[in-house]
Amino acid sequence: MQMDEDPVRLDHLRRQQFELLQRQATRSPFIIAVVVAVLAYVVAEHVPLYLVGPWALVQILLPFLRRGYALRRLGDPPADVKGALEQMVWYAFFAGLVTGAAGPLFFPALHPEGKALLSMILVCWIAGGVSTMAAYARVFYAFATPALLSLALLWAMEGDARSIAVALLILLFGLILAFFVHDTERVVRESFAIRYDNERLLAALERERQEVSFARDRAEEANLAKSRFLAAASHDLRQPLHALSLFSATLSLRAVDSTAGEIARHINTALASLSTLVDSLLDISKLDAGAVRPELRRVNVKELVERIEADFRPLARDKGLMFRVAPVEAHVETDPVLLERMVRNLVDNAIKYTAMGSVSLDAKADERTVRIAVRDTGPGIAESERERIFKEFYQVGNPERDRGKGLGLGLAIVRRLARLLDLEVQLDSEPGRGSTFAVTLPRMPEERAKPRPPRPPVTDDADALIGARVLVIDDELSVRVGTRTLLESWGCRVAACSGFDEAQRLLDDYALDVDVILADFRLPQHENGIETVRRLRARLGNVPALMVSGDTAPERLREAQASGLPFLHKPVPADKLKQTMLTVLRR
Ligand code: ADP
Repeated sequence: MQMDEDPVRLDHLRRQQFELLQRQATRSPFIIAVVVAVLAYVVAEHVPLYLVGPWALVQILLPFLRRGYALRRLGDPPADVKGALEQMVWYAFFAGLVTGAAGPLFFPALHPEGKALLSMILVCWIAGGVSTMAAYARVFYAFATPALLSLALLWAMEGDARSIAVALLILLFGLILAFFVHDTERVVRESFAIRYDNERLLAALERERQEVSFARDRAEEANLAKSRFLAAASHDLRQPLHALSLFSATLSLRAVDSTAGEIARHINTALASLSTLVDSLLDISKLDAGAVRPELRRVNVKELVERIEADFRPLARDKGLMFRVAPVEAHVETDPVLLERMVRNLVDNAIKYTAMGSVSLDAKADERTVRIAVRDTGPGIAESERERIFKEFYQVGNPERDRGKGLGLGLAIVRRLARLLDLEVQLDSEPGRGSTFAVTLPRMPEERAKPRPPRPPVTDDADALIGARVLVIDDELSVRVGTRTLLESWGCRVAACSGFDEAQRLLDDYALDVDVILADFRLPQHENGIETVRRLRARLGNVPALMVSGDTAPERLREAQASGLPFLHKPVPADKLKQTMLTVLRR
């Protein structure tokens, strides 16, 4: 068995065998004492006491001494177990000699029945040794051989045929016992091997489990640290970006000549692409932080495709690409915002990476599913890159990290969104010929056509905010000035402050009336914008309010969602700010 090739396992096996022997040795002396007493009683009538007495004494003392040793060894296993087993073999041999001595000592004085009785007791005794010594066969052989041999020899020496037959029978019996012990020891070895291997397997599994859980904890920690870092970085970026966009919006409104107007437009374009980059960072940190929960709705696929088409057609036209759409009249149940974000990212990539040819956005439906596919005739994606492109910050062929070519987050966001929506993004591509990204959603049964609710009118009433009294709370001076300038150019009356205390003073000193509060989320001295609005409302009544924040830390985002206040992320485009203000004022 291969067990013997592994020294550690062999050592473990020997220890196990040694322990089994010791356990048996703690129990057997009591039975041996009884057997010795019976034997002494049987022979005492014919054998002189000076022979029976010392023999019986030694036979009883020996097992009890052995028991003492066994008890000690069970508590304190030997360092050299091989040597200890060897000693066991020698001890057994000695015990076998003493047991076998009963033959030559008592035989001559006994009549035939006495001899038979003595032989029977001795043979039974030796057979009993099987149960106590089978764990280590050599111990049994060492014990049984001298005892049985001396008995067989004595019978053989009687000379008559019957006695010789008895001698042979004793030898045969010994042989059978030896086979039996040999097999029993094999069973002991095998069951030990199975247990040992199982234990090792379990230990290895446990180690592996611990390693995996350690690695997972570290990965989660690293991921959390990353999303915290991103959140912090995008907050710091958003502040000046927001102020800039407020100023540039005012600048385009007030441009005195066409050159200034042109510059203002360029600034706006640059700001828009900067905002997109910051938005990607924000999106991914939000997704990683688990701050995005899908809200399932019935979604009209045709409308979704048409909305995306309307936004991207000009972009495709500018690049000289054909933009084909094949919308389908079907519904799916999903989060419309997240699905749209996903498809938009795919279309955006398709247009970005395709220099010539076409981009198509198809939706196909069968009875059970709707498949939305974005196909392009761009460069395609090599097999080896197909998994990697979904990793964050990974880009093919942009070693110079030209920001104009994106951040490498688009597909990472797509994958996370897909996971949230329980979808799988399929990618087919033939390098040099193009790529197809697709998702398949379960189709919803069609309802009978219902009249569509009228869309809320999109107000872009230039004068709608004239005279509105706005309280702006932001700790950053540039943002306060920027907001004030923009709001005033819309005709609002603006009071700006940096936090609750200052707002209190303004309200006290000027007896201000407020129509709407525009509050930053993170204010000095750990003041929280939501709390500030709540406290001001206690004084002003239920004034409409909206939050503007560059803080994307996951906890903040969850808090913001829970507050129920409209929440705008810096940098806020001027028209979005205006729309949201109009909405809250109208409520
Ligand atoms: P980004 O577009 O910001 O570089 P993405 O995560 O969206 O980042 O894409 C990762 C990489 O996958 C890109 O650098 C690009 O090389 C490759 N890729 C994505 N979409 C396409 C496409 N439709 N055709 C060819 N390559 C693509």
